[in-house]
Amino acid sequence: MRLHIGIDDTDSPNGMCTTYLGALLYRELSRLAEPVDLPRLIRLNPNVPYKTRGNGAVTMTFDAGDEVIPEIKDTVLFYVSRLADLSHGNTNPGVAFLEGDVPGKLREFSLRALREHVSIEEAERVAGDVGAEVFKFKLGRGIIGALASIGYPLERFTYELLVYREPENWGTPRRVNEESVFLADRWSYPFTHDNVDPQKRTVLITPHGRDPVLAGIRGTDRGKVLQTFEMVEFEEPIAFYQLYKTNQNTDDHLTPKKIGELKLYDSAVVRGKVVTPYWERGRHVFFELEDDTGRIRVAAFEPTKKFRNHVRKLLPGDEIIAAGGVKEHDGVLTLNLEKFYPVKLVPKIEYKKPRCPRCGGTMKSKGDYLKCKRCGYKMPKKLIPVEVPRGLKRKIYEVPPDARKHLSRPLVLPGGEEKILDALEISRD
Ligand code: ATP
Repeated sequence: MRLHIGIDDTDSPNGMCTTYLGALLYRELSRLAEPVDLPRLIRLNPNVPYKTRGNGAVTMTFDAGDEVIPEIKDTVLFYVSRLADLSHGNTNPGVAFLEGDVPGKLREFSLRALREHVSIEEAERVAGDVGAEVFKFKLGRGIIGALASIGYPLERFTYELLVYREPENWGTPRRVNEESVFLADRWSYPFTHDNVDPQKRTVLITPHGRDPVLAGIRGTDRGKVLQTFEMVEFEEPIAFYQLYKTNQNTDDHLTPKKIGELKLYDSAVVRGKVVTPYWERGRHVFFELEDDTGRIRVAAFEPTKKFRNHVRKLLPGDEIIAAGGVKEHDGVLTLNLEKFYPVKLVPKIEYKKPRCPRCGGTMKSKGDYLKCKRCGYKMPKKLIPVEVPRGLKRKIYEVPPDARKHLSRPLVLPGGEEKILDALEISRD
């Protein structure tokens, strides 16, 4: 019998990590039954407010004899009850079990949990309809991710190798030789990615929280991910590690939408016209975008750093394709930019002073007339319109690696432009 297991919402900012629990369980359960493939780390809607970090759930599948299934389920529930950070107010674990094939209805639910907001009640209803068993701890919100991860059609995927720390080191600074990460990255990039930020010269494989993760190595090539792990010099003991298959960096969350359709927590790609000059508040850059169905505020937040410079170059009248997540900011529905592509740019006109018609010298403004700095010639102030370069190219702009959502596909990977180009095709029809 095929048995699918899903787990979610076991961690808090104070510690634990659902992937750690998943990796321990995968090892333990592999003694009782035959694993079908690697465990899977499924990122769901990145805009929901309950997430601790990247809204990740863990799922794994086994071929198990009927006689061991009760023992497997007991083991999962025991591990979750023992290891989840149940003391934290926002940790509401959920576990799901499904026997047999994954029904279409569960696949649909997974895609909704990826792209929209769903409720605990909806998850319970779907579980009942597809014959999945769900177990709630406290509020049990985790059953949403647990069920959705089981039903997730992982057609596109990447890998992440997660390296875990010994419990006595949890909460202390992570010790990894930074130079070795740069060297390993130089060797394996772009088959592994997000190891380092080359601009800032910082290492990205190590997280910063109190969780048990020492490092995560991401990539599209399983072999290169493993070899990169071999090349990195860890300066503290490794408890164990686990390779996960994941929907990270697939852009699976993005769906083409009209601006008028956008709802809170959606992830979408829209095409529209810039209708306001940009404005800034608290180092965040905003503008408004409109299509024939509505208007939305668009934001490039402070952590997107230099990406904001490209956004500042947009002008009213420009037509762009914008991808991102819908959140509320200051009570206003706001599209939080992940990528954008300028489709059509309006000409940028600047008004310049003419040269002196008598001597060719530089003219200076004096109220409503111009005066030559060299020969003193005076003439009425008539400025000349000049078209100046826009400083934006016909290319996709993306946020830097440390501001990128787990699901967002970096442009360096094959298909990183696909969702934007698809939107271009759709809106051309
Ligand atoms: P980590 O990445 O370390 O595992 P996390 O960011 O995944 O932490 P969780 O603790 O898993 O955060 O919290 C996310 C919660 O949101 C879970 O309870 C999950 O079931 C729920 N959830 C996931 N997707 C949706 C959705 N589309 N709508 C509503 N709730 C969701």
